Amino acid sequence: MARIGQGWDRHPLAAGRPCVLGGVRFGDCPVGPVGHSDGDAVCHAATDAVLGAAGLGDIGRLFPDTDPAYAGADSLDLLRRAWALVAAAGWRLGNLDCTVITEQPRLAPRADEMRAALAGALGAGPDRVAVKGTRGEGLGPEGRGECLTALVVVLLERKDRAG
Ligand code: MG
Repeated sequence: MARIGQGWDRHPLAAGRPCVLGGVRFGDCPVGPVGHSDGDAVCHAATDAVLGAAGLGDIGRLFPDTDPAYAGADSLDLLRRAWALVAAAGWRLGNLDCTVITEQPRLAPRADEMRAALAGALGAGPDRVAVKGTRGEGLGPEGRGECLTALVVVLLERKDRAG
């Protein structure tokens, strides 16, 4: 049996904010996502996707942004914690595919690092994770550089099946 999940997250971009996406820090990026946590929209969308596929709720229910405990939180760690629940419910990763719409930073040079970080949090090999960057081409808030948006789809498989 397999289950599909999707996740979507958008954060405003602001000058001088640390830029962490998919657990990878883009130290030379002049803007970064604004959020209660570290603003890592890729990890947030991935967390919602895996929780959704497993029918275990969503990131806001698990890690409320009204809770001071999650101020500045490491979102890759939140993904890891959400995945522990999903894995305990009997699921393993089939594959996860992520698209990030943003003007900055340019993801391609570091996409493999993001794949490795996300896969590590999901107990899988990096060949099961894809990360793609695309731009808004001047259109919409992403195209104007006001925000970034992460879209994730995920397939989960039952652990008790071979293959
Ligand atoms: Mg978020």
